Amino acid sequence: VPALPEPLPVLGLDVPAPLVTGGELPYAALDYAASAPVLRSVWDEVAAYAPYYGSVHRGAGYLSQHSTALFERSRATVARFLGCREGDEVVFTRSTTDSLNLLASALPAGTRVFVFETEHHAALLPWQSAGATTVFLDAPRSPREAVETLESALSAAPDGPKLVCVTGASNVTGEIWPVRGLAATAHRYGARIVLDAAQLVPHRPVHIGELGVDWVAFSGHKLYAPFGAGVLAGRTDWLHAAEPYLAGGGASRKVARGTDGGVEVEWQSGPARHEAGSPNMIGAYAVASACRALSEAGFARLEAREVELTRRLLAGLDEVPQVEVLSLFGDDEGTGTGSRAEARAACRVGVVSFVVAGWNSSHLAAALSAEYGIGVRDGLFCAHPLVGALLGAGGGDTGGCGAPEGQSLNAVRVSLGAGTPEEHVDRFVRAVRELVR
Ligand code: PMP
Repeated sequence: VPALPEPLPVLGLDVPAPLVTGGELPYAALDYAASAPVLRSVWDEVAAYAPYYGSVHRGAGYLSQHSTALFERSRATVARFLGCREGDEVVFTRSTTDSLNLLASALPAGTRVFVFETEHHAALLPWQSAGATTVFLDAPRSPREAVETLESALSAAPDGPKLVCVTGASNVTGEIWPVRGLAATAHRYGARIVLDAAQLVPHRPVHIGELGVDWVAFSGHKLYAPFGAGVLAGRTDWLHAAEPYLAGGGASRKVARGTDGGVEVEWQSGPARHEAGSPNMIGAYAVASACRALSEAGFARLEAREVELTRRLLAGLDEVPQVEVLSLFGDDEGTGTGSRAEARAACRVGVVSFVVAGWNSSHLAAALSAEYGIGVRDGLFCAHPLVGALLGAGGGDTGGCGAPEGQSLNAVRVSLGAGTPEEHVDRFVRAVRELVR
C-alpha cells in the first residue's frame, strides 16, 4: 500500500486524497455512497486515543474508566448531532443493517411494517426475518405520491402496532425523500417510523425532533468513520420492553441459577440492554469524532458545495446522449427555474446512477477504474426491486426509464462527498465521454 499523499482540506475537513493507482494517476474515489474515506481528524483522534484503550464498563483501573467515559461521551455527542429528544437513547451497533435488525427484534408482537419496494435490502428484509408482517408499498413517482401511497396503506390497515421504515435519501438515485410528510402521516395513523439515514446523514443535517421520526439508523463508515460502528437512536419503550438483541455480559444486570435448574436473568434497561459483549469503543469514538467534524464544517456549506458539484456532474452527463440518469421522482422536479441539471441536483444528495446505451455497466465501471483511476460502483446496489423497476425489468407499472437496447440490467453509480474536488468530477465526465465515443 503506497503512502498516503497529503490530505485535501475542504471546509476544514481533511479527507485524505486516496492512494495512487498503478503509480501514475491519483485515484478519484467516487464511491462515497458505499463507504467514505476516514477523515484525517477522525484518524488522528483515534490514533491519539489508541494507546489509552481499555475495557468499557468492565474495570476499576484508569484505562477502563477513561474508555468508559469516552464511550459515554461519544454517545452524548451522537445524541446532540441527531437532535435527540428528552428520553431518546443512542444504541451503538455495527451498522445500519445491524441497527434495523435490532429494531426488528424489538417489535411488539403482531407489528405490521410498511416499506416502499424502493428501499435498500437492509430496510426491506429484517422485518419478515424477525417474524413481523411486511407490507410492500409500490414505488412512488413523486414525493407527494410517496405520502399518498403511505396514507392509503395505513388507512386500510387493521388495528395493531405499525412501523414505517423509509430512507432519507436513495442509495441508487440519490433522491431525497419527504421524511417530514411521511412521519406526520405515520403518526396520524398511530404508526411509528424509523429513518434509514445511511445515505442522508453524511450530506444533510438529520434532526430526529425536526423530522418527527421515532428512530434513526446510520453507519459510521459512510460518515467518514470506518471503524465498524453504527447507530440506532430514538425512542426507548419498544427497545426496553424487548428481549436483548444479543444475550450476554453487559446486557445482563443480575444472573443466577434458577430454582428449576435454568438461568434466571435480569436484563439492563438502558442502551446496554442491546450492547452485549465488549463494546466497540474505537468505532463509537470515531463516529462521534466524525459528527463533531461535520458539525464544525457546517452542513449548510457542505450542502452548497455538494449541490454545485452534483449539478456539474449531471450537466456533464447530460452532454452524452447515450447516458440515461436513473430517477424515480422524475427529472423535471425541482426549482422550476434554472437548468435541468440544477433542478435535479437540488433534490438529490451527491449520488447519481446511470446506464449507457450499448454498454454493460460492469465493463464501464471496470474501464473507469483501469483506464482513468476512477472508483465507482456498478450493480444493483442492494436494491433489486428498485433498480429492476427503474431499468424496466422489475415488472409493475413503475414506468422506469427503460433499459436501452444492448444495455445490461445493472447500472453505474457515482457518488460524491466532502473530499471530492471538481477535478474528479470533470475527469469522470471526460472519461465517460471518451469511453462512450
Ligand atoms: N441503507 C442504505 C440506504 C444504504 O445505502 C446502505 C449501505 N449501502 C445501508 C442501508 C446498509 O448500510 P450498512 O451496509 O452499513 O449496514
